[in-house]
This record gives sequence, structure tokens and C-alpha cells, in this order.
Amino acid sequence: MDVRRRSTMDTPATKARSGPMKVKVVDHENDVVVVGAKASDALPLPLYLTNAVFFTLFFSVVYFLLTRWREKIRTSTPLHVVDLSEIVAIVAFVASFIYLLGFFGIDFVQSLILRPSNDVWAADDEEEHERLILKDDARKVPCGAGLDCSPIPQIAPVAAAPKAVAQKVFDKEVVLSTPCDFTTQPLTEEDEEVVKSVVAGTIPSYSLESKLGDCKRAAAIRREALQRITGKSLTGLPLEGFDYESILGQCCEMPVGYVQIPVGIAGPLMLDGREFSVPMATTEGCLVASTNRGCKAINLSGGATSVLLRDGMTRAPCVRFNSAKRAAELKFYLEDPNNYDTLSTVFNRSSRFGRLQTIKCAIAGKNLYMRFTCSTGDAMGMNMVSKGVQNVLDFLQNDFPDMDVIGISGNYCSDKKPAAVNWIEGRGKSVVCEAVIKGDVVQKVLKTNVASLCELNMLKNLTGSAMAGALGGFNAHASNIVSAIYIATGQDPAQNVESSHCITMMEPINDGKDLHVSVTMPSIEVGTVGGGTQLASQSACLNLLGVKGANREAPGSNARLLATVVAGSVLAGELSLMSAISAGQLVKSHMKYNRSSKDVSAVASA
Ligand code: ADP
Repeated sequence: MDVRRRSTMDTPATKARSGPMKVKVVDHENDVVVVGAKASDALPLPLYLTNAVFFTLFFSVVYFLLTRWREKIRTSTPLHVVDLSEIVAIVAFVASFIYLLGFFGIDFVQSLILRPSNDVWAADDEEEHERLILKDDARKVPCGAGLDCSPIPQIAPVAAAPKAVAQKVFDKEVVLSTPCDFTTQPLTEEDEEVVKSVVAGTIPSYSLESKLGDCKRAAAIRREALQRITGKSLTGLPLEGFDYESILGQCCEMPVGYVQIPVGIAGPLMLDGREFSVPMATTEGCLVASTNRGCKAINLSGGATSVLLRDGMTRAPCVRFNSAKRAAELKFYLEDPNNYDTLSTVFNRSSRFGRLQTIKCAIAGKNLYMRFTCSTGDAMGMNMVSKGVQNVLDFLQNDFPDMDVIGISGNYCSDKKPAAVNWIEGRGKSVVCEAVIKGDVVQKVLKTNVASLCELNMLKNLTGSAMAGALGGFNAHASNIVSAIYIATGQDPAQNVESSHCITMMEPINDGKDLHVSVTMPSIEVGTVGGGTQLASQSACLNLLGVKGANREAPGSNARLLATVVAGSVLAGELSLMSAISAGQLVKSHMKYNRSSKDVSAVASA
């Protein structure tokens, strides 16, 4: 979303109330501990004593003044006639009052002003709307194609079991979980020796896996060595509870732990007549709640429809000749339909799933860029297409021996960089997704109206983005949804760059009563095999969507379905955020869901 997380305002009152907690910053270079200064440090007495003094003073002078004034009333002395002791008491009263007001009052007033209302995303109190929501929430548990909907076997509670250990059964496997156990096993003497060698540089850190033959042990040793070398603690970065074998040679080198990202569920999303619970890995408050609201609006309006327009991964090597003429000759050769069969036979040798579709060439002087597009089954396909391209390059070298291969990727592909070629030609899956949102749903769920939404879309997503010189960024926050689903389902998050290309269109229909909304996304790069998709957590999220692994009956259909779910979720996200902006709810909702209540000033490196 547009509004980023903000820290809690650290008022003098909250600071003072936090009492003895101090901000500690360890300066490892100088080996000194710097304790951050606080406003209360300026007080001559400890904070609790100062508070006690002012409290006592306040109530004493109040008592004193009331006694004196009662005396004056009894003796009929005018109230404004005051002696020195009364003047001193009044001054003390004002001083203690100001102190106590500063201490309690500011924080109280701030909490009243800044506390967001509870109805930011929730339904309003209208009866009819309540009914809609209740009906919506009464749906059965959503069921994706591959989701096992059989009842989860119940396990009788184990009476004597320790509270921290929970037993759950999923997919017939027993999982034992201990909440938040970040503790690492103590090192054995043998491991200690290896750590010392890594610290001394006699054993390279990268070779630990092959030397020890135990990925978990290698990670533990590398982690300890790293802490000693840098003098920085990795407490909080978990080591236990991860299968390090599963990433070896495939997903991550030199691991020292893993980062935890919460996964929220938006949905169910009704798309093409099926319901999907969409996993979103994010640390951005509001995002899942907002997408969920968009799903609700879509569902109440009968669901969304998607069409896959194209499916092909690209790779574009750069080759150089001695003349532009020779570069053009190769271009004509590659683009001649008569040569397609030969080239595709050569290309397709690399994989039973990679099938050459097109070759599109661009010339820059003597340099030729050849953009190969191929289908890749259920794989995202970067490796597959690269292997096919390598085959063709080797083959071409016979007929064009003067061809100098500069690089198998010449950036005309274009991978992980904003580029017009992806926006115009597409890369991966090109999907359009649409829905008709009923006028009353726009009003009751999205809390806005069709005309305002359409106007905002025109001025923000179309005109505003044009003014900004956007490239594929004609949307409100497609990348938010794309990234969250990519991380949850093991996609390459860096491909969020082009995968988030999206144009969001909104039009009034049915005499302005209802809203037609669509997202067109030409470059959704997803797979359900290969890369991070086979890791346990990511594969569980794919399973939830019913697209885990390879589809044996129709290779490629799992990845294509995932692409449509991405587009459908983006549609939901666009609807909700645009509505929030249109209704002026954005800041309010972020104050509720995206505002840390923790004292961030207490966080310092250790
Ligand atoms: P990518 O090409 O996305 O980088 P990989 O290089 O891991 O991914 O390729 C996917 C691998 O999975 C290939 O070895 C391929 O043969 C295998 N595979 C098995 N089933 C399928 C399928 N249905 N679609 C695509 N690849 C599949």
C-alpha cells in the first residue's frame, strides 16, 4: 500500500512512564555501551520520586487552599485577599497541575485523537449489510482443486502433555510444534574446533556443507562463526525448525537461519466459478485485510472471471557480428517461417516441457538481440528457456561462425527489470481478469460509490500514472498482492518487477448503477515446480490453492491457474484500496492495522 508503517509517537509521557527502560546501543568498534538519553534524565530526582513529590504537593495545596477559603467564607473575608502562604500555595498548585497534566493528559488526549475507529474495514451497522456479511461468512470452508477437504482427524487431548507442545494432524502427518523456540543447540567440542577454523579462515565457510555432509550442522557452525567474526548477535533469527537439505544446491547458499514472514489468508476469492483461499506472506499491516475485503465484494457480486491470453517464458541472448548486415542476415534467418521447424526441433531438445513459440529480434548496429519465447509446463521456466536458447546458439554457430555470443541474456528478455518489451509483448503468463461489482456492494462493503471509484481510477491509475511516466504501473498497488503471494508460494520475488505490470480499468455499467472492473497483467511469471516451490512452507501454500507441483494430466495448467489466482487477487486488492482512497479511509485504516504499538526506540543493535 502507499502508506508505510510508522513508529509509535514517543511522547514525553510515554517515555516517562516507561520508567527504568533505557535505549541501549552497543558500539562494537569501541566496545562501549551507550545508553540513550531520555527526557526524564534531566530530572534532579528519580522519576518515581518526582511523581510522588508532585502528587503530594498537588493534593496538599488543594487541601490547604480549600481549608483557607472555607475559613474565609466563615469569617466573611473576601476571597481575593490572599496572604503570602496562599500565594505560595497557588503557585505550587499551578506548577503541580501543569506537571501532572503533562504526565497524564497529553498521552490521554493523544490516545483519544489517534485511536482509529473500529469500523474501518468492518461492516457498518445497517441491518441489511449485517445480513450480507453474515451470509458471506456462512460459506463453507473454501476448497481448491487439490485441497483435501476430508475432516481433519481429532486427537484426544493428552492430559499430562506440557502446554508448550501442541500436537496437530495435517495430511496424516503428526507435527510437533514448540512455539517460538529460537534456542540453538550447544556446540560440541568437535564443532567448536570447526568454528574456530572458520573464524581463522582455514576452512572456507562455503565448503561446510560438503565437508561435514550435514547441512543443519553446517548452518549452525557458520552462524556461530559469523557471530564471532562480526561481533553481532543473530538472536531472533531462528536456526532450528528448517530443513537445510531442501535448499542445498537449489535455493540458498551459506544459510545461517531463516527469516519468518507471517502468512495471512485472503478470501475465499470466487474466480471462474471456484473458491480460493489466497495465502499472502507479508509484514505490511492492512494488506491482507484489504484484499480480503476486495474478495468479499467480488464474491457478493457473483465472482470474477479470468482469461489467460498468452503463456511463454522468454530469454534474449545478445550476439555480435562484424557488420550490421551480417546481424540483419541472422535476424531474417531466425524470423523466416521456413526455418521455424528446424529451430524448434533444436530448441525443444532441452526439455519435454519447453516448446519454442516465437523468436523476435531487435538490432542495435552490429548487435542482434533474439527474444526466444517458449512454453514451460508448470515451471516458471527460466532454466528451461535458457537451456533451449543455448541449444540454438550452438546450432547457429555452424551457419554463422562469425557470430560472437556476448551473453545468453542480453536484457531484451527482460528479467527482473522494468521494460516496455514485457509490458507490450508479455512474459510468462498474460492474464486479464474482470468482475461486475453491484452498486449496493460498492456502497455497503467498499463504502464508496461507482462514480467516485471510476473518477479516481481515471485520475489516479490512468492520468496520474501517465503524468509520472509509468511503465506498466497503471494500477494502485498490484505489486503488494503479487509480492505477498509470490513469497508465500515460493516464486522468485524479484520477478515482482514485471509481474506487477498491470492496468486497472473501471467503468460504470447498467446506467451507472454497477461497476465493471478489470486488471490486465501481461507478465505474471509463476511456476508450481522448481525453485522455491518445493520447500515445505511454500508447497503447503500451493497445496491450499490446489496447484501444488506438476499437473500430470495437463502439464502447465497448475502454473496457469496460479497466474489467474494472482490476477484475481490483484483485482480484489485494487478494488479495496481504490475504495479506501475514494472514501478517505486510507490513513484511518493504516492507523489501525499498520501502526506499531511497540516502543521502536527500544530496538537497537546488539
Ligand atoms: P525453471 O525452468 O522454472 O527454472 P527448473 O529448471 O527447476 O525450473 O525446471 C523444472 C523441472 O521440473 C524440469 O527439470 C522439468 O523437467 C521438471 N518438470 C516435471 N514436471 C513438470 C511440469 N509439469 N512442467 C514443467 N516442468 C516439469
